[in-house]
Amino acid sequence: MFPEFTLRYARLPARFFERFDPVPVEAPRLVAFNRPLAEELGFDLSAFDEQQTTEWFSGNAVPPGAEPLAQAYAGHQFGIFVPRLGDGRAVLLGEVTDGRGQLRDIQLKGAGCTPFSRGGDGRAPLGPVLREYLVSEAMHVLGIPTTRALAAVTTGERVFRRGMEPGGVLTRVAASHLRVGTFQYFAARGDVEAVRLLADEAIERHYPQLLEPELAAQPEGERYLALLEAVAGRQASLVAQWLGVGFIHGVMNTDNCALSGETIDYGPCAFMEAYDPRTVFSSIDERGRYAWGNQPLLVQWNLARFAETLLPLIDDETDRAIERATAVIDGIEARHETAWLAIRRAKLGLATEQKDDAALADDLLAAMQRGRADFTLTFRRLAEAVAPGEDETALLSLFENREGIEAWLPRWRERLQAEGVSMAEIADRLRAVNPLYIPRNHKVEEALSAANEGDFAPFEVLREVLADPFTEQPGREAYARPAEPTERVLRTFC
Ligand code: AMP
Ligand code: MG
Ligand code: MG
Repeated sequence: MFPEFTLRYARLPARFFERFDPVPVEAPRLVAFNRPLAEELGFDLSAFDEQQTTEWFSGNAVPPGAEPLAQAYAGHQFGIFVPRLGDGRAVLLGEVTDGRGQLRDIQLKGAGCTPFSRGGDGRAPLGPVLREYLVSEAMHVLGIPTTRALAAVTTGERVFRRGMEPGGVLTRVAASHLRVGTFQYFAARGDVEAVRLLADEAIERHYPQLLEPELAAQPEGERYLALLEAVAGRQASLVAQWLGVGFIHGVMNTDNCALSGETIDYGPCAFMEAYDPRTVFSSIDERGRYAWGNQPLLVQWNLARFAETLLPLIDDETDRAIERATAVIDGIEARHETAWLAIRRAKLGLATEQKDDAALADDLLAAMQRGRADFTLTFRRLAEAVAPGEDETALLSLFENREGIEAWLPRWRERLQAEGVSMAEIADRLRAVNPLYIPRNHKVEEALSAANEGDFAPFEVLREVLADPFTEQPGREAYARPAEPTERVLRTFC
């Protein structure tokens, strides 16, 4: 029932990876399996065999045709370069071709100590496995490019983190695991040929439009500059989409910055509640480097590191290569601003463009910050403030201090007149882009704690709620509201 593997990464030169079979676990149990995704990937579910599936996704059996490996990569971790990171606990089984003809990596995370483990235990606690499962699938449903979760198993073993915790293995599906850190690994070694191979691989897998004849006819350097531009475009737009749902990645190190433009590596990620651009949850981000509002700047920083690796491919003359790459990196701010403006307009129900729209959106954010208003619900309740027969009571109740929001509402209502459509239509637009349900940290933690005690019911309910974030689900009000002071999660761990 496993779809056929392509083994593309495994056919790259030997210095790109270490062959490594997952280390079997004691007593695996399948706790989540993503059937729609499995179908998309070509699994034949009519032949679904739970025991066999559990063996595959725990790493206890290698599926037919796989040649498991751990990828080599480097990375800047919180700004500090580490020349050899690599998959310390993840194993790539291989690539399969999905229903749209796209190659997708299938990787087991938490599959044992690889040659890159550097003193780690090679394992993953169940909690973070389930957090990645829930949040990556939620991001997908919210329309944000992301790796996906195919399966989660418990291992029957315990791992030591904050005390002993049950172990887990996550099966992650990605457009690829090529990352900025992969390029840095070879660039740091002066291996320009390897960087070229990686760049060509990224172009073929993610940017095939760069292989079109016009570009192919130009000097080769143009293609690699175009790759930098293409990645910059996707990353700038990705981070704008994160901002739009209050998402804080938490570990935007260069090894977690994917060439595909997908969100990758859900560690201590979390969603903001009361709006404050300085919000940080990650227990390892002590200085707030990766706070919500810093993310656009950090994407630019990461892409500057990517650009450095491409310089020898862009132009033989280093000064010229630097000049051209710098222009692309400088342009990221404008790209991000454009993408973020489009998202802010949509979140306010605006389909037309006026020059004061950015200020209008930012003044709402400022009012939210002053009023300590919940980010998700404020945007969601804008619909009620304009829908015929409803009013702004519920919206205002989110604000501890109402001055800002009371002054803002009339300005927004006036701006909406210029849209030339009915308020009912505006309300529909708003409800289609502003989710009611996001993975609220306290609900996620509640699901993970229960799972650690063997009760997967809260995880299942949360999975269901998050599968339909734009539609009000009767009886599930508790999933839409922010944490009470006693429920608040201040730190997340990976
Ligand atoms: P991350 O912060 O998740 O991107 O991980 C950074 C690096 O640490 C990567 O090289 C991971 O493979 C490695 N790593 C994280 N956790 C473990 C672990 N438990 N055992 C071995 N390596 C790990
Ligand atoms: Mg990582
Ligand atoms: Mg991680």
